[in-house]
Amino acid sequence: MIEDTIAAIATPLGEGGIGIVRISGPEAIEVGQKIFKAKYNKEWYNGPGFRLIYGHVHDKETGEIVDEALLSIMRKPKSFTGEDVVEINCHGGMLPLKKTLELAVKNGARLAGPGEFSKRAFLNGKLDLAQAESIIDIIRSKTDTGLKISMGQLQGRLSAKVNEMQSELLGMLAQIEANIDFPEDDIEEASLKQICRRSEAMLQEVNKLIAGAENGRIYREGVRTVIIGRPNVGKSSLLNALLKENRAIVTDIPGTTRDIIEEFINIGGIPLKIVDTAGLRETEDVVEKIGVERSKELISRADLILFVLDAAEGVTADDYKIIKLLPKNNNIIVIVNKIDVENSKINARELKDKFNDTAVIEISALQGRGLEQLEQEIVKLVMGGQVSVDDQILITNMRHKQSLEKAKLHLVEVKNGIEAGVPGDLVSIDIKNAWEALGEITGSTVSEDLIDKIFEDFCIGK
Ligand code: GDP
Repeated sequence: MIEDTIAAIATPLGEGGIGIVRISGPEAIEVGQKIFKAKYNKEWYNGPGFRLIYGHVHDKETGEIVDEALLSIMRKPKSFTGEDVVEINCHGGMLPLKKTLELAVKNGARLAGPGEFSKRAFLNGKLDLAQAESIIDIIRSKTDTGLKISMGQLQGRLSAKVNEMQSELLGMLAQIEANIDFPEDDIEEASLKQICRRSEAMLQEVNKLIAGAENGRIYREGVRTVIIGRPNVGKSSLLNALLKENRAIVTDIPGTTRDIIEEFINIGGIPLKIVDTAGLRETEDVVEKIGVERSKELISRADLILFVLDAAEGVTADDYKIIKLLPKNNNIIVIVNKIDVENSKINARELKDKFNDTAVIEISALQGRGLEQLEQEIVKLVMGGQVSVDDQILITNMRHKQSLEKAKLHLVEVKNGIEAGVPGDLVSIDIKNAWEALGEITGSTVSEDLIDKIFEDFCIGK
């Protein structure tokens, strides 16, 4: 039973039109009543929920008016957390927000920890774990497609699938249970065979979900992409050309030790995270350093390699040095840049023969030619050509993938066990284990420690 009331600033710190202090818990309305003075609906705290009240945040003791604000009241259980919630829309500056929060704490609330609002929503049954986790993904989504996947998860698509598989497993358990009442061998045998088929079918579904997880990860985390090539082949020009056509998404991930700022380019719905952008943007005097040595280091960290050649200069000895570094089975696109020059020294067709299955795309970063083709090739390579996620449940979270892999192992045990003639009550144990592994995704079978750990990764105010 949760008994205390928590408060936090729920909007990013910095200057903005409005900022919100969120208060949730049994005394949320009382705290609001103490720190907020309504101009018109003076007895708002006795009124219904889902109303917006105009007034002022004030310190009752000193009489100081801290800010002019709007207060919204959401009564339990129809609120995000399932508790009474009061949100105060202040002006979006550090001081009004900080002072309003301090007043809330002085009047009965305590500071919320990271993810505590979402955790309460989970504990109160407003969301399951997969849904709660999707909130972070929605906030951090980098492309429309990524947002769509996370919204699907918030709306319970993944959870529904997991619940469906779990009840199928319960059905199998019930079937085995029933057999124990009819111990004739042939009945049990026929029944176990049926369970074997059911678990095989489920294995296929689980495998499909696991197989999609790599694409899911890409939508969530982005494709680590490097642009490599000799100095002056046009790497920065290519980056700039891509950026010009595709909005860059900059995300700011607050960490405990330092903030990481990441930049993504949206290519056909796929977020490309260009690694070492700073290196690309360095100026002439350090240009020698961005040759072969640098390429070696970058290649080792990439999901996708864009290898740039210069049509004006042809394939040089240095290019061959880089080619030697290229991994054999990686996502590589060879880009012949500067095809606008008069005497191109590269014959793309010959190059294609040399690179076998690797795509060779001709572009002019300067004139913006060939970029569309390049983008199509990137999508094809990274997603196997598939970017539509409309009718697919995509696993984006590695925690979910791990649970599916656990479930898979147990399902294989079920199948192998039955085939080896293991008795029903032992098969039941594996079925139960698979059921438990799946339940970790929605949180129906996870330990309190794990729940704490998951919500600690959330930010304060969420
Ligand atoms: P980086 O060292 O690989 O990053 O190369 P840059 O992008 O700095 O480009 C080197 C030079 O090549 C610059 O003078 C660019 O203007 C020029 N350049 C880049 N792309 C093209 C192109 O498509 N056509 C032509 N003609 N010149 C280009």
